[in-house]
Amino acid sequence: MVVLKHYTWLIILSVFAIWSSTKISSWPESIQGILVFFPYVAVALGLFIALWLNRIQPVLILLSLGCFNAVLFYFSSSAFGLDLTEETLFPVLSILLPLNILLWIFLPEKGIFNKRLNSLVVLIFLVQTVLLYWLLIGVPEEWLMLLSVPVVQSSSIILLSFSAGIMFLLTLFFIVLKMNQSSFKILYHAVFVVLVLMLVGVGQGFNLNTLAWFSTFSAIVLTLAMIFEAHRIAYTDELTGILGRRALMEHFLGLGKKYVIAMIDIDHFKKFNDEYGHDVGDEVLRRVARVLDGVKGGSAFRYGGEEFTIVFANKTVNEVMEELEYIRRKVESGVIEFRVGLKSIKTNVTISIGAAQSDIDFNVAKDVLKLADKGLFEAKLAGRNQIIVREYAISSSKVNHYKGSKSDE
Ligand code: GH3
Ligand code: MG
Ligand code: MG
Repeated sequence: MVVLKHYTWLIILSVFAIWSSTKISSWPESIQGILVFFPYVAVALGLFIALWLNRIQPVLILLSLGCFNAVLFYFSSSAFGLDLTEETLFPVLSILLPLNILLWIFLPEKGIFNKRLNSLVVLIFLVQTVLLYWLLIGVPEEWLMLLSVPVVQSSSIILLSFSAGIMFLLTLFFIVLKMNQSSFKILYHAVFVVLVLMLVGVGQGFNLNTLAWFSTFSAIVLTLAMIFEAHRIAYTDELTGILGRRALMEHFLGLGKKYVIAMIDIDHFKKFNDEYGHDVGDEVLRRVARVLDGVKGGSAFRYGGEEFTIVFANKTVNEVMEELEYIRRKVESGVIEFRVGLKSIKTNVTISIGAAQSDIDFNVAKDVLKLADKGLFEAKLAGRNQIIVREYAISSSKVNHYKGSKSDE
């Protein structure tokens, strides 16, 4: 679901960038005249956010985009001349841009204050500056010819050089590998889009306005990805990867009048931690969270510690009992295997659940949660590994017990 949301905005922005780029030549002169400055505004904004969030990878990709535009613009309008820029600088920069992005995505994300990493980055930029200087004072003609061999011979639409094409493909290949690694990383997806956009831009040959347009969108895509990633971090629980308490509180705001809240707590978890250690405890928390996150018809949150909350919007208790019972059994039957020293251990954990539903005159989510928590407390007292539903307006002695072992009978 989250992935789909990200694909949507990435695709919409890319399609818009590509479609609108075909119209640039029909735009008013006044806009075309300032188009080359757009990337710097977008890059500066992105840099500000990347520095604020302490992310070195987007900082470097944005800097590369900025430099790419600045170098082309500076030399095309200097004594160096437009033609020379097109013939010598452009083919080389078209290779250096994807190459830089490739380097930056392989640098570990260690924040912006890592001295060793920063020295390496400065060195890489210096080497490229020297390379460009050497190019300006005279690079062998044959070399440039070789770099400029087009992918499609004598086409007036696709002007991509073979060498730049290869470099872009290589970088795309590695970014796809990164995208498929472990969890969903929005930044890598954004970098993929940046590469595609810049490939389309570079593929249209040396045109400062088109390149500026695609660079601007690339910087916007990177910036949005950083913001969304920061939002994701704020709302997900770091240990388990499921939604956290802040997300739960926000979820409450969107609830209607009818819903069920279930509070879940792992049984005897302190003993488990004491016996097998905190690391095994953490792994158990992750596993339980994964089971809870798979709940059908509801959303799971880590409430704190070893307590979780599931919210079923537009549901009554009767409608969700079966699902809660399924979850309880699934946790109970999950075998946890690990080693402590030389001993291999197989065990399991159980959960207790308290549930409550809203009512016409009882629909403040925090109150419903408290009632569910009372149910949880009673489930613990009654022997754990069971579900107790607390009903509002019914005397506290009248509670519904649902215990797995009983329903087996
Ligand atoms: P009960 O069946 O009554 O719930 O017993 P309990 O031991 O689970 O309850 P208690 O609230 O006394 O203990 C909760 C324990 O959960 C205490 C703490 O060691 C453990 N815990 C809380 N958060 C974490 C965590 O992030 N990682 C690990 N490994 N343990 C945690
Ligand atoms: Mg607890
Ligand atoms: Mg517990």
